Amino acid sequence: MRGSVFSAIREYLQDVYRRFQSIWGSLITAVPYLWGVGEQRKEVTEQYPDPVSSRTADDLPARSRGLLVNDIDRCTGCKECEKICPVQCIRVDTEAGADQSKLWVARFDIDYSKCVFCGLCVEVCHPQSLVHSKKFEGSVYELKDLVASFGRGFVTAEQRAKWAAMRQQAENDEVFP
Ligand code: SF4
Ligand code: SF4
Repeated sequence: MRGSVFSAIREYLQDVYRRFQSIWGSLITAVPYLWGVGEQRKEVTEQYPDPVSSRTADDLPARSRGLLVNDIDRCTGCKECEKICPVQCIRVDTEAGADQSKLWVARFDIDYSKCVFCGLCVEVCHPQSLVHSKKFEGSVYELKDLVASFGRGFVTAEQRAKWAAMRQQAENDEVFP
């Protein structure tokens, strides 16, 4: 009986010792970081936003993936980006315009709130109109404000008819120059 009491006390004290050892080991590792002591213990985190130490767009690596932007003048409206996007955050609506070499991109919306920055849409964009910018600050108050629109807008019926006539004229000129 007495032996088991001593044994329990010994185990208890050993347990307390092990725990103290563990806490002490953690403190030895962590405390120097508080004062930046030692070569490997320099501060690596930064306050944000902090105009002194925060990185700017110029500090970012060349291939960093910031918010997507589309140069609508180069975009042909092929919709390859829309098809490949794994989260369906690109929406493209097109119609025939005056220029036969490319479509009129009436709507080109990117929902940044869904984008996972995988870069697939940029890879498939042959005219390279869709690129990652170096903009990385996209905070807004309303979710709806995270939809970026690059489209040219929908056209009127008169405009559509005018373009149809222009395309027809261009076709006639090709056949009967
Ligand atoms: S980067 Fe990826 S998730 Fe974002 S729009 Fe492009 S394909 Fe979609
Ligand atoms: S952004 Fe590129 S891939 Fe997307 S519709 Fe325009 S040209 Fe096609």
